[in-house]
Amino acid sequence: MTVTSDQPTRSADTASPPFPSSPDQHLGSAATRTTLRVQNRMLAATRAFLTGRGFTELLPPIIGPVTDPGIRGSKQVDVDFYGHKYKLMTSAILYKQASLLAFAKIFYIAPNVRLEPIETAVTHRHLAEFHQIDVEIRDARREDAIALAEELVSFVVGEVVREMPGELDSLGRDRDAFREAVAGAFGRTTHREATADLVALGHPQDPGAEIDWEGEEILSAKASNPFFVVDYPKGSRGFYDRENTDNPGVLRNFDLIAPEGYGELASGSEREYDYATLVTRMRETGENPAKYGWYLDLARRGIPASSGFGIGLERFTRYVTGRTAAWEASAYPKLPGVVSA
Ligand code: AMP
Ligand code: MG
Repeated sequence: MTVTSDQPTRSADTASPPFPSSPDQHLGSAATRTTLRVQNRMLAATRAFLTGRGFTELLPPIIGPVTDPGIRGSKQVDVDFYGHKYKLMTSAILYKQASLLAFAKIFYIAPNVRLEPIETAVTHRHLAEFHQIDVEIRDARREDAIALAEELVSFVVGEVVREMPGELDSLGRDRDAFREAVAGAFGRTTHREATADLVALGHPQDPGAEIDWEGEEILSAKASNPFFVVDYPKGSRGFYDRENTDNPGVLRNFDLIAPEGYGELASGSEREYDYATLVTRMRETGENPAKYGWYLDLARRGIPASSGFGIGLERFTRYVTGRTAAWEASAYPKLPGVVSA
């Protein structure tokens, strides 16, 4: 595991900058403009990297009859669609799988709306509206998705370090912090090992559950390079993360965690696509299969096998620019429970 014994460079109690009271205060700030210019370069680098690898960019849906239920603790937003209850997308995962019927490799820059619990407004990493760099690859294994996520993140970070040193300096971001990330070779650990590390550090991590954001931040703060956590337990994730048939109860999935306390950057997995297994997994995760009409109809006719991931754009930008909070990497930030523009 990449966790080192270095002192944490950040912690959960880092003072949050004041949330802007108006768009002109936020958009008029030099630091916001610089952060958004870096983000613009990160998006351009992402598109160049993925299109260079044969990926087709699709425009993601914003509403649909059903959306990703695997959003632990946050609420979905209903939309009245001509008398039918639609949802704003919390993630485009179901559509990513469907898209592979047209193209073998796709990506979106997808907006997501999640009404996160109000107490997450102070975590520095939860927004009620954010974007994912959403990637899906037909017939790929988890390891292929992990390798691609590593290359993509390393490429994008390298591009900013090379092309925007003045911007990083003006934001006070230490460019040396990226030496390892630019070289790639991100570490790997399992959920089981991460749980043991956290328990040894005095953090009560349940071996059968998602690593909570405090635990993630503890692991992140001790790392100097991004690292992957693999093999989350069944029950901690949505029905679309494929179970390991050789190791029942363990999912073929992963998270990518940034170093220096910035926490989770991405989640990904090998996907479930078998109709009967999807129905069983939906029931096991408390989802009513009847809600998933179009998706299950498609699965019955055949959804391609795939793997993919989603990188949170504002969190990725926060890590690269060294800003304190993810909302600083959004032009029009929406913090959970905070009424704003
Ligand atoms: P998830 O499917 O929940 O793992 O979300 C995919 C990625 O989106 C995560 O790895 C984060 O980088 C990002 N993300 C998830 N929830 C939020 C949020 N509330 N605010 C900002 N970014 C988020
Ligand atoms: Mg996640």
